[in-house]
Amino acid sequence: MYKISLVMCNDMHMDIEQANEILSCIYNNPRYQITSDYTEADIIIIMTCAFGTGKEYSMYVIADIQQNCKQDATIIVTGCLVKINSYELQAISGIVIIKTISEIKEFLGECKPNVKLIPQNKVIISSGCLKRCSYCVYPLITGNYVSKPIEAVMKEVESLYESEITIYISGGLETSDYGIDLYGTHKFPDLLGSICSQYPNCNYVIGWFHPAGLTDELLSVIAKHKNIAEIMVHIQHVNQQILHNMNRPSFDFTNERLLKLRDLRPDIMISTEVIVGFPGETEKEFDELVCYLDKGLFQDIGVASYEPVLGTKAATLPNIPSLEIRNERMEYIGNRYHCTTYSAPKSCLEPVLESYMKACNHFYRLPKMIKTPKARQKYKYIAGVDTKAKEPEQFGMILAQIFKEIVNARDELAIARMKKYMSETYTLEFRQYVYQVFKQSDLKTAMLKKAKVILFEK
Ligand code: SF4
Repeated sequence: MYKISLVMCNDMHMDIEQANEILSCIYNNPRYQITSDYTEADIIIIMTCAFGTGKEYSMYVIADIQQNCKQDATIIVTGCLVKINSYELQAISGIVIIKTISEIKEFLGECKPNVKLIPQNKVIISSGCLKRCSYCVYPLITGNYVSKPIEAVMKEVESLYESEITIYISGGLETSDYGIDLYGTHKFPDLLGSICSQYPNCNYVIGWFHPAGLTDELLSVIAKHKNIAEIMVHIQHVNQQILHNMNRPSFDFTNERLLKLRDLRPDIMISTEVIVGFPGETEKEFDELVCYLDKGLFQDIGVASYEPVLGTKAATLPNIPSLEIRNERMEYIGNRYHCTTYSAPKSCLEPVLESYMKACNHFYRLPKMIKTPKARQKYKYIAGVDTKAKEPEQFGMILAQIFKEIVNARDELAIARMKKYMSETYTLEFRQYVYQVFKQSDLKTAMLKKAKVILFEK
């Protein structure tokens, strides 16, 4: 019996779908047992992310796992980062790189039909994307658009229907092209109509919808079924030239469709996402965007600061606003509309190996206690399925905690107790590191002396 742990570095719909596929193989096979604690696993599968801070986080996850897993564990690295950067990952020893989910399934052996093991109120109806937005690398990674058959989607909706108030219906990357591969035509309006008619006592949210799919047919389905509560249409920008360079539909087209939708369904929630700081965006184009958003058509807005991604057409365009300006514009929109912000990472073009070396260096300093199951409960943000990589902040918290303990140890007994606790809990390297941090801060000499006794004396 092998224990297997699956670690995700992102929670995109497509990743969750793939994770479900892998987990189904493990779940149905008597040779395997799923474990959420990878320190006890014989096989660890890491699904990496390739974009923005996700890339760096993936490197932290790999380094953390290498540091803390069983000595003979097999570490499999897969996911987006492998697809765009496998040559760099190959330089990291001790990991097995597998490019596709089908190769992983082959490695695991016979797989039975999918079981939804990551509970979500989402029904993902397709994978891949047929659009070619110039800034986006996903279609190059995920390959063809693949729709799930209508019957399979209906079954999934049925399985959630009794227990959920709201069901989220979305493509893994893009929803509007649903059905084109299977049925030779766009089938999303039909699918949505059937779902709403057969399962009427539930609200529906349509996810990740490209404006091109806002056809009259779809709008009439939305107008008819009032339980379609929200649609997420990403407009990305409103300036004609920028939209052209993004390879997105024109502003006039999208605006006309959205106004018609609002007219038919004044009560529906329309949410969107925009990108600021795209190449060529000056104050003028940025103001155009703000003026449009000010009209209040959207109830929820997400804003991302443009990030040039290797291999995309947009990354070769001139006149990219500086990182500072990009993030400033994002903050401005974020504050103005109280929206979710996604800033561009400082070092998005930093080589994978460099991030890996940084991560290794960092984990070298982490305390021994991180390896115990109890501590992992407390520090589960490290290489957990929590995609918000909070670990550097938590590292600061460990330092603050140690400092507090040292300050509070006032009598001999308390100092002796702390000395024992420190040496049993933290590695010497880590204590040395802590001491260096204290030394570089403005600590009084007496306090520094006490810290030295507690951290190093036997
Ligand atoms: S529609 Fe979305 S996933 Fe598809 S290329 Fe454009 S941004 Fe990327």
